[in-house]
Amino acid sequence: MDYTNKNILVLGAGTSGIGAAITASAVGGRVILNDNKEIALSSKDGQELSRAGVRVITGRQDNSLLDGTDIIIVSPGIPLTIPILVEAAKRQIPIIGEVELAYQVAKAPILAVTGTNGKTTTTMLLGAVLKEAGYPICIGGNIGDSLSEQVMTVPANGYVVAEVSSYQLETCHTFHPKGAIVLNITPDHLQRHKTMAAYQKAKETIFANQTGSDFTVLNVDDTIVATMQERTQGHVLLISQKQKVSDGAYFADNTCYAVRQGQAEAVITTADIHLPGQHNIENILAVIALTFALGVPVALIKKAIAAFKSVEHRIEYVATIKQVKYYNDSKATNTDSAIKALEAFNGQVFLIAGGHDKMTPLADFMKEVKKRTKGIILIGEAAERFEKAAKEAGVDRIWRAESMHGAVVLGSELARAGDVVLLSPACSSFDWYSCFEERGDDFKKEVKELEAKVKGGR
Ligand code: ADP
Repeated sequence: MDYTNKNILVLGAGTSGIGAAITASAVGGRVILNDNKEIALSSKDGQELSRAGVRVITGRQDNSLLDGTDIIIVSPGIPLTIPILVEAAKRQIPIIGEVELAYQVAKAPILAVTGTNGKTTTTMLLGAVLKEAGYPICIGGNIGDSLSEQVMTVPANGYVVAEVSSYQLETCHTFHPKGAIVLNITPDHLQRHKTMAAYQKAKETIFANQTGSDFTVLNVDDTIVATMQERTQGHVLLISQKQKVSDGAYFADNTCYAVRQGQAEAVITTADIHLPGQHNIENILAVIALTFALGVPVALIKKAIAAFKSVEHRIEYVATIKQVKYYNDSKATNTDSAIKALEAFNGQVFLIAGGHDKMTPLADFMKEVKKRTKGIILIGEAAERFEKAAKEAGVDRIWRAESMHGAVVLGSELARAGDVVLLSPACSSFDWYSCFEERGDDFKKEVKELEAKVKGGR
């Protein structure tokens, strides 16, 4: 796509939109950045946008913005059903996302990671292995800074490592990664995609343009992901914790193996892995399969994985107080990721859950709560529905807390030496917080205050 002198309308003045506007302008476009809300830009963003010659219009979003527009770049948080996008579709104006833009302007090949859970961990780990192997890289997409801005800095012999969500994939058309990883697909984001079929279809865009010289890494243990083998044109690399595979990576006897044409090579054993839980083995296998296929030596893959500690807000160890361990898993915003956290511990858990309710089914989750916890402390808007589901599943130790402070204090009163107090909410955070990071930070602050109090009281 040639952006020279094209009129570009960027919708959404957040990190993604600001980055897209600056990038589109850098490749020759005439850019308007628009947000329907009044946005107070930071002085740094304001200066960069003005230096790039981007016109900023916020606080209104009428259809006149479409007049003369050649291309619309939409931020991932914006549904494609808002009035201006419906009108744009009628006028047949192309609508793309920032990830598509990043692909179009990148010099280096893209390695993309998607799935319902594990994207950030896998993306970060993939970046760490490639860095260890000496490649110039950038990491972005659904994490950190805008991807399109960063890709301009990576030379052709490097890699762009991108976490891509289903929302971002919905607005990709020619996006063609050299490596694509699909980790798992479980119910989430159904408010936007409406059906599992639509959600899955969005995810499959990740490999839609791949060919035989690209790699598609698929988790064959996930029944939906396993069926994707039939639909990708890419060279399939399978990962599994249940069976040996002939091309990809698998886990057996506490060891992760990389495999090429049936020849398996041991990469790392659990003794050298510091990420908790079996779900992280899945993420590690995906990284091993792809980097091994790209030619990274096994010793370097092992070194990077062994050095990798947990990512903040993902089963993150916080403190031990009176022999009770506290873990922050605020990023567990759906039931599947919360189940994975429960599986990572040995049942001695007091679980803090609840928040903004995503209205997904709770029966399976509550079954695990009954089996794997000593009780559940419910918080936030979801507390009522969660309590009902917990009772239906036979959970009999249920408490409620009206604040994070209350939840942590309650957890500390209930837990005995050897127990774990785990925040793994299975809900998004928007009832009490602006994002999951703020919720996790609040939990950690409360735990640290408790720790200081206990120490002071000695
Ligand atoms: P994402 O970026 O897809 O949200 P993260 O790596 O941020 O993924 O992890 C989100 C949550 O899911 C955390 O609670 C984490 O412990 C859990 N998780 C990580 N990897 C997996 C996986 N492969 N399967 C299920 N849950 C996972």
